[in-house]
Amino acid sequence: MSQESSPKIESQSKKTAKPFPEWIKPSGKETELVVNNSLTGGKTPFVFSNKDGKTITWYACGPTVYDASHMGHARTYISFDILRRVMRDYLGFNIRFVMNITDIDDKIIIRSKEQNISHSDLSKKWESSFFEDMKALNVLPPDALTRVTEYVPQIVDYVQKIIDNGFAYESEGSVYFDTQSFIKSHDYGKLEPNSVGNENLAAEGEGALSVGISDKRSPFDFALWKKSKEGEPVWSSPWGEGRPGWHIECSAMASDILGDNIDIHSGGSDLKFPHHDNELAQSEAYFGNKQWINYFIHSGHLLIDGLKMSKSLKNFITIKEALEKYTSRQMRMFFILHKYDKAMNYSSESMGYAIEMEKTFVEFFHTVKQLIRDSPLSNPQFWENAEKDLEKYLQHTKAEVHRFLMDNFNTSDALKALSELVSKTNVYLRDCNAQKKNPRINLVQTVAEYVTYIFNVFGLVDNSSNSIGFGSGVKGNLEEEMTPILDAITKFRSEVRSSAIAKDTASILKTCDTLRDEILPLLGIKMDDKGANGAIWKFEDKETLKKEIEQKKEIERKKQADKEEKLKKEKEKLEKSKIPPQELFIRETDKYSKFDEKGLPTHDKEGNEITKSQLKKLQKEYDTQAKDHSKYLASLQQ
Ligand code: AMP
Ligand code: ZN
Repeated sequence: MSQESSPKIESQSKKTAKPFPEWIKPSGKETELVVNNSLTGGKTPFVFSNKDGKTITWYACGPTVYDASHMGHARTYISFDILRRVMRDYLGFNIRFVMNITDIDDKIIIRSKEQNISHSDLSKKWESSFFEDMKALNVLPPDALTRVTEYVPQIVDYVQKIIDNGFAYESEGSVYFDTQSFIKSHDYGKLEPNSVGNENLAAEGEGALSVGISDKRSPFDFALWKKSKEGEPVWSSPWGEGRPGWHIECSAMASDILGDNIDIHSGGSDLKFPHHDNELAQSEAYFGNKQWINYFIHSGHLLIDGLKMSKSLKNFITIKEALEKYTSRQMRMFFILHKYDKAMNYSSESMGYAIEMEKTFVEFFHTVKQLIRDSPLSNPQFWENAEKDLEKYLQHTKAEVHRFLMDNFNTSDALKALSELVSKTNVYLRDCNAQKKNPRINLVQTVAEYVTYIFNVFGLVDNSSNSIGFGSGVKGNLEEEMTPILDAITKFRSEVRSSAIAKDTASILKTCDTLRDEILPLLGIKMDDKGANGAIWKFEDKETLKKEIEQKKEIERKKQADKEEKLKKEKEKLEKSKIPPQELFIRETDKYSKFDEKGLPTHDKEGNEITKSQLKKLQKEYDTQAKDHSKYLASLQQ
């Protein structure tokens, strides 16, 4: 069909995209955010209509489930997941997110026949495979999942109302949208006015099983309800047995849950025409309004060797294949590095850049965590110019990241800004090292926590309770709990290693004892020696173990003190035994003044005679000394 044969539509097709407010501008709260709205053909301030000031509605076109999802799907669903997270976790919106699954359509019918299985078995299989992939890619599930096969009665009612409103007609058991009637009062082809009249796109939209059917009033009309042919699945309707057309499912299901005016509708850019333009026409025809969707956002295509990656071109790499080669985080990083609404190329080189980028951040997080563990707060903390400069750069980065994200979710430049911040922090750390100065860990920690916060917003973090880094990929905070144990193992290893190199067995055994008696108990681990059977360990209350160590140490200290006291006494005794008995009292001039020929005192220091009882005591002392001294002399001879 050439454009000349339908002058009314031709005049529509020449029309260029119009900005708000030529259509009804959404009334509501203005935000800082600017969004590339395919309805205006450019960046438009985001105004949302909800009265509570925080709720937005979002409908996303889901996949047609007849085969494995590929990296093109990953591009679209990860990109919108990032946008959704930015709106939810960074801007604080309450989002009501609905996504459909196209579980009946021409492609599904054809494929199920080829494989000789039922269409529902085929679609169930690929739907669960799709959600497995989405889970692996950390894509948030929708709040409502609408399957076409579960919505047929609503779709039939929807079609009936469009007929009643005068915008559709029944023909030979099928129902078609009446474009000629619609354009009298509405714009048709709001998204891609220049594609209106494109026969190939229109035919593709109608599906392979519709080829050769010519019961429409105008070639621009499209099917709302398709009469089922022999062997095709059927649902009953006022027009006989049949099945829904492709575009009607999204209009009917989105309207059912989100109503007559939806803030955001998303999909890949190949869906603009005819799918999204037809959705708009159907819903406006149903509600009798002029603007069903306020913001239509489209993801750019993922290309491979310059061609769109697609099932039909057979140039696709499935998500599962890609996940064998790359981690989910690397893939997300890859998409974050590109603007969501621009086409991008997939190659191992372009993935390589994302992997390098990820590595830089991983290393940075490790460095900071290590520093936090090893830097006591008792170190000097006052800020010099280096710290002031780094903090200034952090504030600058925060403002830049905000500016980029508000500019149509420019994650690519936001990520580059974060990478610059990390480089600056690494330079600061290197300088500290060169100057033998301790880095101001609070500041470095603040930087790492900010980067982690934005990464969490981007969906790059496995465990949102992590304050720094990507997380461990394991539920619960394994990394945090393992850190002191790994530190202990690392220290133990290096001590054992250097003792082994020095062939110092005693030292190795001492290190083993220290691990058992001092290090592990502080970590809440009690290790008991079982002789030849090695040792066993168990978790115990850290506080109890800590007290036990203190008690053990106290006993040790006392033993040691007693031992030292004993040694001291022995030494004193030995020293005393060196003195010959006749010299024992003579040196005590502070006590005695006269002595006899054996050296026994006769008078005290005042010149009074020593009493008999005193003398008896002194004689005893003298005799003991004589014994000790002769023992000493004997020991010398030995
Ligand atoms: P489909 O399974 O073909 O219905 O597609 C589901 C979603 O993935 C749609 O929003 C498509 O636009 C999108 N999509 C399919 N292929 C690509 C691609 N190569 N690049 C980006 N998005 C794609
Ligand atoms: Zn759709």
